[in-house]
Amino acid sequence: MDHFTYEAGELRCEGVPAEAIAAAAGTPTYVYSRATLEGHLARIAAAFAPVDPLICYSVKSCGNLAVCRTLAARGAGMDVVSGGELFRALRAGCPPERIVYAGVGKRDDEIAQALEAGIGLLNVESEPEFENIARIARALGRTCRCALRVNPDVDPRTHRFTTTGTKETKFGVDIERAHAFFRTYGRDAHARLVGLHLHIGSPVYDTAPYVESVGKALALRDALAREGFAVEVLDVGGGFAADYETGRSPSAADYARAIVPLIEPAVRSGLRIVLEPGRSIAANAGILLTRVQYVKRSGDKTFVICDAGMNTLLRPSHYDAFHFIWPVRPGAGHVPPARTREPAMAGLVPQDVVGPICETGDFLALDRAMPPVERGDLLAVFTAGAYGMSMASRYNSVPLPAEVMVDGDAFRVVRRRESLEDLVAHEP
Ligand SMILES: *Cc1c(COP(=O)(O)O)cnc(C)c1O
Repeated sequence: MDHFTYEAGELRCEGVPAEAIAAAAGTPTYVYSRATLEGHLARIAAAFAPVDPLICYSVKSCGNLAVCRTLAARGAGMDVVSGGELFRALRAGCPPERIVYAGVGKRDDEIAQALEAGIGLLNVESEPEFENIARIARALGRTCRCALRVNPDVDPRTHRFTTTGTKETKFGVDIERAHAFFRTYGRDAHARLVGLHLHIGSPVYDTAPYVESVGKALALRDALAREGFAVEVLDVGGGFAADYETGRSPSAADYARAIVPLIEPAVRSGLRIVLEPGRSIAANAGILLTRVQYVKRSGDKTFVICDAGMNTLLRPSHYDAFHFIWPVRPGAGHVPPARTREPAMAGLVPQDVVGPICETGDFLALDRAMPPVERGDLLAVFTAGAYGMSMASRYNSVPLPAEVMVDGDAFRVVRRRESLEDLVAHEP
């Protein structure tokens, strides 16, 4: 699963004690494990090897250059959703032909940036967007490859904020409209419509929604072929789950067992597959270290007030997301055997783990059974590598945290903690 484990009563990140990282880099700090990042990428690649996909890491899950460089160096492409992410992907050394670009609101300057970089695939989400891309490509004298994002109307049974493939979302076009889309735009000489794109939501804890949506996309491909339109690329999107709780999510092999047999025949006849995993690579490859500032009792409640909050990790308050949180040095008898909501262990007390932000919704966990903690204790928030730092904000004028990359027995700061001067640097 990952390389964050308790040894001799304390949490280690690969070979480095978490305390040593906090002592050197301060808190709050995101800590990434290089071996975990590479391991997750390798497992996805091995599971899907029979269909030899281009694996485009979703930069929005964790865009740190050190993370992107690590993955690009291992052959990953990048899935980007803005000009800023495209800039990151290129800066990290990702070859442009391995970059795919999705997003409903691409601006003219972002489209031009993508065309000039010569990226592999533009994923188009609407008719007016396609017309705009074709217009800009013509004006620049460029050609590009495009995939139509189709909306397979499949419910991934995840949080409503991260459901993206049902009929009433802003993403993609309904699958019935795809025929008309290809008839209208499928012969454009500059923006070449060569693919179909799916991304149904995230995290998708079940393989069935993939089977359903990929099945619909393949049927559409056959129907389009009968009309003379060749679909050369199927981008299956992302959404594979991460292990927020030990053993609760399908593995890369589980997803592959469901998806590969469906697409294998088409791949043998020339279809190219793209995958866009983000969370399943980055989430378990990162933890957030935070220091307890105060322990406060109000009525029956115990509040553990930390130096990380919704500004640092938004997922608990925004998505009701579960992150396992545990002391880095939990004390005798409290080394966690697994990451679960209700650890079977004596001496735990329910506590609200909250941040310093002036919002009632500023929490990392509510009524969480944890060992009792004290001011000064270091806590680890697990599975925080994806949609952690990338969603962090400066709300309440709290500078952004540091990021650290661990590699074996060594670690280095890969984004320095922001200073107070950084906070006002753009304000004359
Ligand atoms: C966010 C996103 C992904 C990545 O989703 P994960 O759940 O992190 O795997 C992939 N493709 C698109 C188009 C996305 O918007």
